[in-house]
Amino acid sequence: MFLRDSFSCSHSAKGGSGFRLITARGEIRARNVIVATNGYTGNLTPWLRRRVIPIGSYVIVTEPLPPELMKRLMPKGRVVSDSRRVIYYYRPTPDGRRILFGGRVSVSETDPRISGPKLAAELTRIFPELAGKRITHSWCGFVAYTFDELMHVGQYDGLYYAMGYCGSGVAMASYCGMRVGQQLLGLKEGRTAFDDLSFQTRPLYTGNPWFLAPSLVYYKLRDALPI
Ligand SMILES: Cc1cc2nc3c(=O)[nH]c(=O)nc-3n(C[C@H](O)[C@H](O)[C@H](O)COP(=O)(O)OP(=O)(O)OC[C@H]3O[C@@H](n4cnc5c(N)ncnc54)[C@H](O)[C@@H]3O)c2cc1C
Repeated sequence: MFLRDSFSCSHSAKGGSGFRLITARGEIRARNVIVATNGYTGNLTPWLRRRVIPIGSYVIVTEPLPPELMKRLMPKGRVVSDSRRVIYYYRPTPDGRRILFGGRVSVSETDPRISGPKLAAELTRIFPELAGKRITHSWCGFVAYTFDELMHVGQYDGLYYAMGYCGSGVAMASYCGMRVGQQLLGLKEGRTAFDDLSFQTRPLYTGNPWFLAPSLVYYKLRDALPI
């Protein structure tokens, strides 16, 4: 389970020839530092924190299901995502025996012990045949949205950064991570289409997305209405 700010904090301070990084396990010096904290960007890098919006996403996994039931519910074994504004996404686990189901079931951030049963209710609404099946796993994590809904790669105040994948970071975080590493080494192949974009923030936004709950209420309402 991930909780925001649950990891031990570290500090970096710009020294004469680079950075001094103080971690729970000791201190190191580095000529360059890449910040790749995405939805966990904290007070250590306030400029970046003002530019990403941490949003929790929640997942459950069912107990192993009978093969004939899996075949009936997900005959092609594909990844599914609905077309609402506040979406649910689901797929068979790689072994094809369980259903992994994700989405957002509360307007403010919550505990996976609370989100688990709520997600299970949504899963059963979509697949009534799953009523009574056990949920064996429930967890959550933070993704990072940005004000222009694009990821950003660049440098600020001597720190390199790559973040803001807006919930689609499995492929893009690896790609941008490699490119920002190449940028740091001065290699021209490190350039990306995201380098020169202005990394926007909004007045008075400091990293606490107070507007998230009302926005979710609005989007859920629009999902409920035929518009
Ligand atoms: C439930 C869920 C479902 C998702 N589903 C999908 C999906 O289907 N497809 C998709 O493409 N993407 C998905 N994503 C998004 C994807 O997981 C992220 O975009 C991706 O993991 C970002 O990778 P990252 O390495 O940039 O950041 P992360 O994987 O978030 O890693 C950031 C790391 O920074 C560390 N950190 C923060 N501060 C400090 C500090 N001060 N010192 C040291 N370390 C620090 C954190 O502990 C964390 O380990 C999902 C995310 C969640 C939470």
